[in-house]
Amino acid sequence: DALRADPLRNLQPRQVPGYHYSPVTPTAVPDPRLLAWADEVGELLGLSRPPERGPAVDVLGGNLVTPSMKPFAARYGGHQFGSWAGQLGDGRALALGELPGTDGRSWEIQLKGAGPTPYSRRADGRAVLRSSVREFLCSEAMHHLGVPTTRALSLVATGDEVVRDMFYNGNARPEPGAVVARVAPSFVRFGNFQILAAHGEIEQLRELADFVIRGYYPELGAPAPEVYLRWFQEISRRTAVMVAHWMTVGFVHGVMNTDNMSILGLTIDYGPYGWLEPYDPDWTPNTTDFATHRYAFGQQPRVALWNLMMLAQALGPLVPDVQQLRPALDEYVAVFNLTRQQLTRRKLGLTAEQPDDAALLEALPAALAATQVDMTIFFRQLAQAVPALLAPGADEAGTLEPVLTAAAYSELGLDLQPLREWLTGYAARLRQEPAAPAEIRAGMLGANPKYVLRNYLAQQAIEAAEQGDLSVLHRLQQVLRRPFDEQPEHEELAARRPAWAASKPGCATL
Ligand code: AMP
Ligand code: MG
Ligand code: MG
Repeated sequence: DALRADPLRNLQPRQVPGYHYSPVTPTAVPDPRLLAWADEVGELLGLSRPPERGPAVDVLGGNLVTPSMKPFAARYGGHQFGSWAGQLGDGRALALGELPGTDGRSWEIQLKGAGPTPYSRRADGRAVLRSSVREFLCSEAMHHLGVPTTRALSLVATGDEVVRDMFYNGNARPEPGAVVARVAPSFVRFGNFQILAAHGEIEQLRELADFVIRGYYPELGAPAPEVYLRWFQEISRRTAVMVAHWMTVGFVHGVMNTDNMSILGLTIDYGPYGWLEPYDPDWTPNTTDFATHRYAFGQQPRVALWNLMMLAQALGPLVPDVQQLRPALDEYVAVFNLTRQQLTRRKLGLTAEQPDDAALLEALPAALAATQVDMTIFFRQLAQAVPALLAPGADEAGTLEPVLTAAAYSELGLDLQPLREWLTGYAARLRQEPAAPAEIRAGMLGANPKYVLRNYLAQQAIEAAEQGDLSVLHRLQQVLRRPFDEQPEHEELAARRPAWAASKPGCATL
């Protein structure tokens, strides 16, 4: 009876030793319908926006596989929340194939939510509209902010409903299903190497490393032990650059398991991510991480390092001595610090380096954390204030106080003095910049976005889309294509989180 009640009760993930991937066919859905399309990604792939329904959307919804496609799901493992989880794999993603881009590179197209794969375990291989809107909007928003990331081409409604055994808006309920077509040179993850190393499949490990090096790191030369070392160094470097970007825009990935770390240093797998609103290094959007805050904003640099250590362990069999991989980890730290410093200098409009700059820059995160201001608003307003601040006989406090007020979450009741003091030092330093104030401001406006995907905005787009209104989603998508531009007709999308959003599910937590 128990078996009849739940025939999948004893189902184990299908183990496929020796394989890198499994052929798989997407599962047809009732009514694939295009909800959103990213023009830039279409242009990159030489595709024009298709009509709402038709063969192109059938492909993007998983209902049509053309003869040139050989869809597959990849095998990978990973450390989840610090523990080895064994085989995971693409449980709800499958690659259709690759297209040559107008940039001369080759781009892989993956459908996320197109039905079960051999790696789905007990889950359904589906994605809900809510999570698909979040992935679609955020991957493109990140790209336009200059953050290394996978891209998203399309968002397609499936016409059926998906039940998630989680609570959303207070009730477990069926939600509309959707499929995102995401795009990257490759979706290979740290976990693809880990699963091979964990099973002692060393020939396959070498095969995959050589495939990735030849295809995506050709500048390193033909695979050889010293090339594996340089390759790992390059992965470490790219990961450092990616995380430095996250820290300067206020992005919290939310689930930095090693299966969610791209071997190309791209932000990948937009799940329970969030944008930092009050600058709180301990904040995580991921409710399953509330106990440990392992993946909180401020933890991200060291978690990425830990993930790289796990990758180093997996790559050990390819090099004479695993210890030879260690210098790359030191380089990760150096590249992270340097990149974060460079990005922050641009945000602050500082050019030629001065002896006291290091101390000024190092003091900034602590001042932000003490006051928990909105970093996006703070930097943007600071940029706008530069001409007034540098005017002869300027009223410094009178110029800076409105910046603080605009960025502060007054309901937190925090004293703004630490940031006020930091600003005093900054203003003195800025006066030594040789460029004209208007020029400094222009540079800062190009480094400090006005528009980011605030959590409550994504949630508003989702709720409207679930009611059949796509206008909020489309508006947000358009605005986030130009995050550094003033867009006066969309001013309210740059506003600080309203008080109600601080506790609303989907807005502050996921
Ligand atoms: P994530 O935490 O999203 O990185 O997912 C961890 C693992 O669970 C991956 O192997 C996913 O493919 C798999 N997974 C997540 N959601 C589903 C789903 N709805 N159906 C099948 N597999 C899933
Ligand atoms: Mg994942
Ligand atoms: Mg995921």
